[in-house]
Amino acid sequence: MDIERLKSFLVGGVNSPVRAFLNLGIEPPIFERSEGAYLYDISGKKYIDYIMSWGSLILGHRSNEFIKQLNFAISNYDSFGATSIIELKFAEFICKTQKLDMIRMVNSGTEATMTAIRLSRGYTKRKKIIKFSGNYHGHYDAFLVKAGSGQMTFNISISEGVNSSILEDTIVCEYNSIDQVKAAFDKYGDDIAAVIVEPIAANMGVVIPDKEFIIFLRKICHEYNSVLIFDEVITGFRIAYRGAREYFGVEPDLVTFGKIIGGGLPCGAVAGKREIMNKLAPIGNVYQAGTMSGNPIVMGVGLNVLNILYSNNQIYSQLEELALKFEEELSSILNKKGISYVINRCASMMTIFYTNKRQIKNYSDALESDINLFNRVTKTLIKNGIFIPPSQFEALFLSLSHSLMDIEKTIEIFNII
Ligand code: PLP
Repeated sequence: MDIERLKSFLVGGVNSPVRAFLNLGIEPPIFERSEGAYLYDISGKKYIDYIMSWGSLILGHRSNEFIKQLNFAISNYDSFGATSIIELKFAEFICKTQKLDMIRMVNSGTEATMTAIRLSRGYTKRKKIIKFSGNYHGHYDAFLVKAGSGQMTFNISISEGVNSSILEDTIVCEYNSIDQVKAAFDKYGDDIAAVIVEPIAANMGVVIPDKEFIIFLRKICHEYNSVLIFDEVITGFRIAYRGAREYFGVEPDLVTFGKIIGGGLPCGAVAGKREIMNKLAPIGNVYQAGTMSGNPIVMGVGLNVLNILYSNNQIYSQLEELALKFEEELSSILNKKGISYVINRCASMMTIFYTNKRQIKNYSDALESDINLFNRVTKTLIKNGIFIPPSQFEALFLSLSHSLMDIEKTIEIFNII
């Protein structure tokens, strides 16, 4: 069995824990092909993909733009390990269209958030950071307490292997709680280097914070000269072209990107105010580096995909229309079945919480969901070719390649749960 061979060479058969489906108690499909809204496993079975590489593929799998640019890239370059003209084009495009002063490219979301924290500490000469329970910022040590995503799914409150001395400088507040942030600043204000937040959370399931909460974070960071970091690894280029900054009309000091920014290839970035960015080496003394950072193949593909998103703003209304239809159809079928739920949706990402609560506003709310029901529904969906996230604490994503027919087919399967 391929899955047994996988398990003997890869821990749990995977390269990232959330792919193992351990919480569902089923074996994950093994894929070999993707196209548009679909994945095909090694037996040829077709799945409608609502994971979309965890939100990376907003145009769908193997879009024309992706293929065209990849073909161009492989006839022209591989990796320079030196400065390239495509890096200039990419950086200039992002900074201008995202209204940011400067950017540093890295290879993943984790590298981006880790760099943003180090940079904030170097810039402010302070130690502590505030993060929120249920937010996930990648697997850097300082974040691995009450994190969302896989850590929440597998109920690992604090990752083993992280020194407690590191976590002494991480203050965890409840998402959406102005009072808790205020209390943390009252106590430690002059030593808080940064507040890092998923401005719309997607890693405890989708949770949209109150606008006042986001405005308050901006205000208190100003007051104490702390750096406000919006982790837009998921929300960037998805909620709107300018992500949560456009949605709330609030500008942080630093932004982190990942996923969509690489157009389907591994990529991340930290960007923001010149005064802070210039603390990075080689201008400043905050050290950060990467052999593959700004790889020309990735830059070319990323630029091509982002250009499509920027120049065709109707893409976002198109996605909104499809996602609204999906939400309405889901609500109607769940009502018909007498299932209690809350759907949290922001643009083309959403989570169905199986819950008796009236709203899900934070980590504690999300944890009260009916996981047994979630597991039962999700197993049925996956078995019937609907590839949705295997955890209650993740988001499902639509792409431009999804159609009304895909939604209808998905609803038909929901009907048999
Ligand atoms: N930040 C957020 C909001 C994320 O959702 C993720 C990954 O899902 C990360 C950071 C880490 O990104 P990566 O998995 O590319 O390291």
